[in-house]
Amino acid sequence: MARRPDAELDRRTFLRLSGVSATVVALAIAAPEDTAAARPLDGDVFSLGVASGDATDSSVVLWCRLATDPEAADGHGGMSRRRVPVRWEVSEDREFRHIARRGTALASPELAHAVHPEPEGLAPNRRYYYRFHAAGQTSPIGQTRTLPAAAEVPSHFTFATASCQHWANGHYTAYRHLAAEEPDAVLFLGDYIYEGRDHTGDIKRQGATPGEQHDYHCETLGQYRLRYALVHLDPHLQAAHRAAPWFCIWDDHEVQNNWDRSGYPRDDVEEADYRRLQAVAFRAYYENLPLSLTTRPSGPAMPLFRSFDVGGLARFNLTDVRQFRDPVPPDYPVGRDEADRTLLGAEQEAWLYDNLRSSPTLWNVVASGVVLTPFDQAGTTADMWNGFPANRQRLVDAMADSSNPVVISGDIHEHLAGDIRADYTDPDSPTVAAELTTTSVSSLGDGAPLDGGGGWLKNTYVHYNETLRGYVSVRMSPEEVVAEFRTVPYVEADDRAPIETGARFRVSSGTAGLQRL
Ligand code: FE
Ligand code: CA
Repeated sequence: MARRPDAELDRRTFLRLSGVSATVVALAIAAPEDTAAARPLDGDVFSLGVASGDATDSSVVLWCRLATDPEAADGHGGMSRRRVPVRWEVSEDREFRHIARRGTALASPELAHAVHPEPEGLAPNRRYYYRFHAAGQTSPIGQTRTLPAAAEVPSHFTFATASCQHWANGHYTAYRHLAAEEPDAVLFLGDYIYEGRDHTGDIKRQGATPGEQHDYHCETLGQYRLRYALVHLDPHLQAAHRAAPWFCIWDDHEVQNNWDRSGYPRDDVEEADYRRLQAVAFRAYYENLPLSLTTRPSGPAMPLFRSFDVGGLARFNLTDVRQFRDPVPPDYPVGRDEADRTLLGAEQEAWLYDNLRSSPTLWNVVASGVVLTPFDQAGTTADMWNGFPANRQRLVDAMADSSNPVVISGDIHEHLAGDIRADYTDPDSPTVAAELTTTSVSSLGDGAPLDGGGGWLKNTYVHYNETLRGYVSVRMSPEEVVAEFRTVPYVEADDRAPIETGARFRVSSGTAGLQRL
């Protein structure tokens, strides 16, 4: 995985703002075998499941967060202040007869009893199985895989994209089907949690009975931790994590609605309080996902943008569309001065354009938490790239200089397939890329079939639009990318809806633009 060159963090800043001792952080990453006695605990210590992510050609991050009482109101998951040793194993076979790597991490209360071991020295482009042992218990088995080596061009690579999983809005039926597909990777594109005060009472997820302890708007570390625990309890999300390594980026709701670099868009919160809130939100995000140590936050800063190469087949650029974005002016789009405004920030822009223009891979994917395709020419929907047309143009120009660019995005709770045009002010402008936007997993509940009448379709460069829930399943080969837009007819009543394919598109290597199949 190509990391940001400055991914090494200011350790002291992280430690000061997160209240974690240097020793504990070091031990949580790779503890010696004999630091503490393993003690049995009552309750399922692996109630929140297991996960893997941020794979490279020789490693993959393994994750679990211990919680014997995951819905405990204080966010501690029922765990005491005691540190718990967690043994991990990576095996070549599901029976764990051929162990490739094993080790011990120490789960500490300072990191919500989560561990993120990164076994090294694994073979490229192969499947592995992993599990954990802690407190006398053994976790479920997860399967994962390493990426192909740089010199290798695999015959194919499959991945699914997902976003927007508001727990109270519906069942995670999409994940039941996504897990069954066993893709090589899952790209999660933002809104893993929703921070708002709407997780109890009149909820759409029928059959669920969330306790009163979930009735809050996230503002403290404990509250963010409890919100992640609620989400992680879902069996279909757990199955999707067990099926493949995940590569995660965020959008707004992991912190606060529509946040940007200027802070918290709420009048009742002072900037200093906002920075504290951002720090605890980032820390809970790190604690709760299979993220590499290179993304570890330093207080209110987190080096989340990064890239990985699938051998010579594809480069995936994982962008951060929140932390560095300029505010949208109150009178937008009147009187805007676009050239100086940025969605990605200067440093990330330079990194991304260089990564695109210098890439040796056949395909070049840009993962974005928000949609790149303009909704219309009038400049509405300013929270997306639509609010940053000059930055969008710089990105489009860089993609035009790269090999076979493809954008994957989420956020709008609708499926969208669109051609990215070189110049949206010119109706005859050539197409330079394709955008595949995934609908929500559950946010906004059932939705309704658009039957080909989606509002985005008034734009000639948009070829498909659907508001049902689901995900996008993609198969890449040197010759083509084929995307299938999966939908489920409902998510509110129960988790048993069948999967359907709303549309299929192909992008052929060397020919920008979507072909409907
Ligand atoms: Fe969302
Ligand atoms: Ca969003």
